[in-house]
Amino acid sequence: MLVSAEKMLQDAVAGQYAVGQFNINNLEWTKAILQTAQENNSPVILGVSEGAAKYMGGFKAIVGMVEGMMEYFNITVPVAIHLDHGSYEGAKNAMDAGFKSIMFDGSHYAIEENIAKTKEIVELAHAKGFSVEAEVGSIGGEEDGVVGAGEIADAKECKMIADLGVDFLAAGIGNIHGKYPANWQGLNFEALANIQRETGKLPLVLHGGTGIPVEMIKEAISLGVAKINVNTECQLSFAAATRAFIESGKDLEGKNFDPRKLLAPGTEAIKATVKEKMTIFGSVNRA
Ligand SMILES: [Zn+2]
Repeated sequence: MLVSAEKMLQDAVAGQYAVGQFNINNLEWTKAILQTAQENNSPVILGVSEGAAKYMGGFKAIVGMVEGMMEYFNITVPVAIHLDHGSYEGAKNAMDAGFKSIMFDGSHYAIEENIAKTKEIVELAHAKGFSVEAEVGSIGGEEDGVVGAGEIADAKECKMIADLGVDFLAAGIGNIHGKYPANWQGLNFEALANIQRETGKLPLVLHGGTGIPVEMIKEAISLGVAKINVNTECQLSFAAATRAFIESGKDLEGKNFDPRKLLAPGTEAIKATVKEKMTIFGSVNRA
């Protein structure tokens, strides 16, 4: 069932687990994630960056692909298509195309402008029953060409944004996108606890879920994190499995040049990564 992410994440806060947002890049990604969610009876969020949307032929192409696949594969678990790190215009366009959940990332604006724009997007989204994620304190690493330094979000600013009626909030707590460097300091749980104190039961979002140790993930969930974004890890799994298949020379056997065969090991690897994450996040059998 294609839904907004609001109830899904409120249920996650109440049940002390997190729903994974897995970013999609193409048909194989979408199919692998949807099928894994169904097999594990887990709710799931399909993350779509504006860059990925351009690559796949626009927001409408994505909505059509996901809806068609859900019908064809009989996917009955709750699924949200969610714009990841949306710009102001991108958020509006995605909602017009049928995305029922969007992130408006105004973290690069001064807090006053972030508040003004987030407020407007929240009003537009809620008029349609769609959910909105906002961001305070830019998250380190690279987001589709936008490089942010790792920041700790200000808890009072989080409260100001939360009060606009956003449905869930991404706050920087030392997490970064992409692979974590060897000298990474880890998540700042004191900052997370302060943010949770200010924002109450609002579901919190942890970006940069690739490579965060399991114990840190579990502690973050205990402090109100209800959505964890995973992107790079599926890319790494897909690439490694594809490389292994080709390096073993199997692509030269029979008709393994057929993309349906050539991309199969990578697709299976995505499924394994998604299942592993759903198990760690505790979302299995929560659909
Ligand atoms: Zn992110």
